Amino acid sequence: MRGKLVVGNWKSNGNLAANAVLLDKLRAVLPAISGVDVAVCVPFPYIAQAQQVLSGSTVAWGAQDVSQFAAGAYTAAVTADMLTDFATKYAIVGHSERRALFAESDSVVAAKFAASNAAGLVPILCVGESLQERESGLAETVIGRQIDAVLSVCGVASLANAVVAYEPVWAIGTGKTASPEQAQAVHAFIRSKIGKLDAVVAAGLKILYGGSVKASNAGELFSQPDIDGGLIGGASLLADDFVAICRAAILRG
Ligand code: PEP
Repeated sequence: MRGKLVVGNWKSNGNLAANAVLLDKLRAVLPAISGVDVAVCVPFPYIAQAQQVLSGSTVAWGAQDVSQFAAGAYTAAVTADMLTDFATKYAIVGHSERRALFAESDSVVAAKFAASNAAGLVPILCVGESLQERESGLAETVIGRQIDAVLSVCGVASLANAVVAYEPVWAIGTGKTASPEQAQAVHAFIRSKIGKLDAVVAAGLKILYGGSVKASNAGELFSQPDIDGGLIGGASLLADDFVAICRAAILRG
């Protein structure tokens, strides 16, 4: 039994005052909801604020990126050790916006995954195909390549302390969601790919779905056998919506 995990990705949104309202609400409401793990990945400057508000609560916090380097002359890079100084649990690596807008290659993503793993952060490895790749029948090829890049650097055992998020690029922030069947097919592909290397790691691996998840479609997605929760962008900025998505996860836990 893997249990469900719901992670909010605030992206480049928020300010101290708005975050305080949102975090306070999550802190107040979510403890009453047991049976699902919940986290919010906030912009770097607000990690300390998330720690301050959420410490001692049932909600964990994470970062949306992490440097592939250790401490040194890498101006502006935020290392995994800096994040663990603030009791950060998760780091998203390989989000499609980082891959597309910041030219992060598979090998950079793999190095970020390795840096997270080494520091004791739980990397949330995002994988997913573009619309063109899906329509050309290349979804599994692309996702397989993205996962292989990590496996070749870190090995399958590293996935025992990691999360994978399937995020079809065409569904992120577009209002288009993969159908539960489409998402399940990719999740099953990912689990079976890992299972060929290590059945125990594959069985325990949480694979989240991300891409325009809302309270209205979360239940159907989370009912699929290989969907272990969600990575939530836009809807994680609205406390009521995010809480409703967490509730949907419990009902399908
Ligand atoms: C995301 O940013 O990871 C995401 C899934 O965004 P949205 O839920 O807004 O599509």
